[in-house]
Amino acid sequence: MSELTKIVLSERDMPTHWYNLNADLGAAGVELPPPLHPGTGQPLGPDDLAPLFPMALIAQEVSTERYIEIPEEVQEIYKLWRPTPLYRARRWEKALDTPARIYYKYEGVSPAGSHKPNTAVPQAYYNMKEGVKRLTTETGAGQWGSALSFACQMFGIECKVYMVKISYEQKPYRKILMQTWGATVVPSPSDQTNAGRAILAADPNSTGSLGIAISEAVEEAATRDDTKYALGSVLNHVLLHQTVIGQEVIKQLEVAGADWPDVVVACTGGGSNFGGFAFPFLRENITAGKQTRIVAVEPAAAPSLTRGVYAYDFGDTASLTPLIKMHTLGHDFVPAPIHAGGLRYHGMSAQVSALKEAGLIEAVNVRQRAIFEAALSFTRAEGILPAPEPSHAIWGAMQEALACKESGQAKTIVFNLCGHGHFDLSSYDAFLNGRLEDYDYPEEAIQESLKRLPQLSG
Ligand SMILES: *Cc1c(COP(=O)(O)O)cnc(C)c1O
Repeated sequence: MSELTKIVLSERDMPTHWYNLNADLGAAGVELPPPLHPGTGQPLGPDDLAPLFPMALIAQEVSTERYIEIPEEVQEIYKLWRPTPLYRARRWEKALDTPARIYYKYEGVSPAGSHKPNTAVPQAYYNMKEGVKRLTTETGAGQWGSALSFACQMFGIECKVYMVKISYEQKPYRKILMQTWGATVVPSPSDQTNAGRAILAADPNSTGSLGIAISEAVEEAATRDDTKYALGSVLNHVLLHQTVIGQEVIKQLEVAGADWPDVVVACTGGGSNFGGFAFPFLRENITAGKQTRIVAVEPAAAPSLTRGVYAYDFGDTASLTPLIKMHTLGHDFVPAPIHAGGLRYHGMSAQVSALKEAGLIEAVNVRQRAIFEAALSFTRAEGILPAPEPSHAIWGAMQEALACKESGQAKTIVFNLCGHGHFDLSSYDAFLNGRLEDYDYPEEAIQESLKRLPQLSG
């Protein structure tokens, strides 16, 4: 029998439950510090989150149930693109001249072109079930905004997206995609919220940041009864929804007759594609004695996991969100405009941060020219054009494959190709024409921002 190149599951093999890592953290000796109220510094209760999120999602946020059933209506929509394919990167292995076996999970087949609809759909669903009429959110380059616009359209909910201004102006196509799916898109900072007006008063030319856009979206949801807020990464329930990815990969590797992976690699912005892909493998490390190395790759221009401190910080610039213990560059972090690789958030998922602290996962950062070089090497062999974000994972997998070439070991490497790059061609253009410069986020800037971390008594 010839070996499979593309491993596809049928709809009937789609996971029916999400996997909740919180159920197994205790067995791994990892403690997850609770989120704190931004005003009092006390642990948050469900009522504190009720203005922003529906009760079903708040319950998932704190659940320790190992498996949570995926509602029928959500499964029906997942079936528009799930299960997603797993590929053996045979041609790329040859190009790299490595004895390693490389597999990649491809989430770019979703309507929005990334993994983000995996959580956008259940989030819109639970809001609809609880009678919510409008959702607000923020988006950077537009991946999350387009996923939520699509999901809201599926359930007849209005969607308003605060889009980081520099992307709104420089990357119009995802804005148009959001509008095509019926959303309203506003460049942030805007004059529609107190948070936005305050930023504009201080700096009328502000190009915006994810932290600022979150402040605007949260403020609008908190001050309107018919409106709630949706976040595309970082929170436990978001990573939970993404675990359909890793669960499918485990089944697909079995179908392929592959060895259990020696190493799995994913990129990290807020941690959602990484968590969704890697947590089912981590479960096997914790509960079944497997020893897969789990590697997170992030940009040198926004290195929260590798160079940030592990501390309580706000999720947004205007200090409106709960405090989360996470690896942070400081909540007023603004990424350098020359950074084209995505993954621009100042913080990191509490779960991913705690795992890093406990030594259960590894993290590395990489400069942007290297990730585009890796992306070219990959796309010229495999054809699929990766977004800059998963190109960090491609780079990580490539380092592992080249190490195998040195050592002669035929390791099994699996990475998450979490989105296509069809809307990122201007960044490829900059790289191909030598206009892309490397950039390390300066240590002084990190130290400056960290001075403004919230001071907690006790
Ligand atoms: C949003 C996004 C990311 C970063 O977010 P995570 O929560 O870290 O996954 C990475 N890749 C793609 C394609 C995205 O759309």
